[in-house]
Amino acid sequence: MTAVAELMDYADVVERFDPVLGLEVHVELSTKTKMFCGCVNEFGGEPNTKTCPTCLGLPGSLPVVNGKGVEGAIRIGLALNCEIAEWCRFARKNYFYPDQPKNFQTSQYDEPIAFNGYLDVTLDDGEVVRVEIERAHMEEDTGKSLHVGGATGRIHGADYSLLDYNRAGVPLIEIVTKPIEGTGARAPEVARAYVSALRDLLRALDVSDVRMDQGSLRCDANVSLMAKDATEFGTRTETKNVNSLRSVERAVRYEMTRQAAILAGGGSIRQETRHFQEADGTTSGGRVKETAEDYRYFPEPDLVPIAPSREWVEQLRATLPEMPSERRKRIQTEWSLSDEALRDLLNVGAVDLVAATVEAGASPDEARGWWVNTLAQEANSREVELADLPITPAQVAEVIGLVSSGELTNKLAKEVVQGVLAGEGSPREVVEKRGLKVVSDDSALLVAVDEALAAQPDVAEKIRGGKVAAAGAIVGAVMKATKGQADAKRVRELIIERVGS
Ligand SMILES: [Zn+2]
Repeated sequence: MTAVAELMDYADVVERFDPVLGLEVHVELSTKTKMFCGCVNEFGGEPNTKTCPTCLGLPGSLPVVNGKGVEGAIRIGLALNCEIAEWCRFARKNYFYPDQPKNFQTSQYDEPIAFNGYLDVTLDDGEVVRVEIERAHMEEDTGKSLHVGGATGRIHGADYSLLDYNRAGVPLIEIVTKPIEGTGARAPEVARAYVSALRDLLRALDVSDVRMDQGSLRCDANVSLMAKDATEFGTRTETKNVNSLRSVERAVRYEMTRQAAILAGGGSIRQETRHFQEADGTTSGGRVKETAEDYRYFPEPDLVPIAPSREWVEQLRATLPEMPSERRKRIQTEWSLSDEALRDLLNVGAVDLVAATVEAGASPDEARGWWVNTLAQEANSREVELADLPITPAQVAEVIGLVSSGELTNKLAKEVVQGVLAGEGSPREVVEKRGLKVVSDDSALLVAVDEALAAQPDVAEKIRGGKVAAAGAIVGAVMKATKGQADAKRVRELIIERVGS
């Protein structure tokens, strides 16, 4: 397991094999209470403080279904263009693991609440790929294990393990795609774009906080390869709990190159779960994958079946918000964006941020300029999502406002943004602390203008002779003298006035 896997060059992989993907996304619903008890549903907290006999699996305790959980599942199903079951049941998925105190997970098996849907996914270059959805079903989350004493945080080598059941019983929707075929070299990108589109959709539905870093949205990526002349799918591996968009893409790509090397060498793929290592972008082997039979599913006897009336389903359909894809089209029109500008905006994940900045009073063009250029570069170099930068849309709008009122130049504005990102406070506070205000006092500027003209009499002469473009050298000198804190346009005006008089 520690041996470094042999990998095939990616270009060779896609020349010899067709990748087939299957993506399983788990999303925690942000209901007030857990799925089958009244315990509060919140991330974190002192271990085992958000528990009760039901979510601890104590004998004699009985579950009750959370109606809001069912509502969330139906809305997700509808947004994914699924059919909604007229009648379905929960099932017990039996397995022993210490983070699952009941020794079974309450899930759904052959009767999911939503099935047969699709999600259209837009790739970076604008190509749209339709990903078919097999099902979306309801289940509950497990608790968390903390393995103490080992080097890796895994159970192997640990001295002891601690268990926290605060998360046990949190409503979970598992969304499973049908096999995604025919994407070739773009398979890793399709996987990332799908999870990204799904995250946008779930955020728009307001059913989850979709925080991948906190585990409220997690992706298991199934990957297999077919030789070009094969007619059947190859054996797949399932890389579990990949927790960022970038990691989804990397994990799929890594598995393709690893499996291809094994297959080309005459070996066979072991059907197993694998773990993704964030640090080096590799995957490592886990347990051999169980089959459905191993779980001895049977209908949950303690819960009544769920039969959502068609009236209720239609009422819920009416609550669906504008879908992200429609919103994009509307925004493109409203902000007069070219296809390319829209794509740039989407690629850096800035749509919501720009919209919020516009709402806070900035113009779409200026808001876009900041997020897509300066701030996207910043996020890139920090390796974080744009939305996780320590600056808010309101603060960006404030900086833009300071520029348009003439209090800041563009150059100074960049410095102010750096100050906000460094945690020095609001834009105005940074301006004060760093003393970044534009020198708008004409008399102070005129002193600098006169000095610069005196220092470069030949240039002054050229300007006087009508070569207005030569003023640039004087503007530069004044900007330097005022440490960039002058409004270049005003400086130019003063130079012309001075030379002309
Ligand atoms: Zn409970």
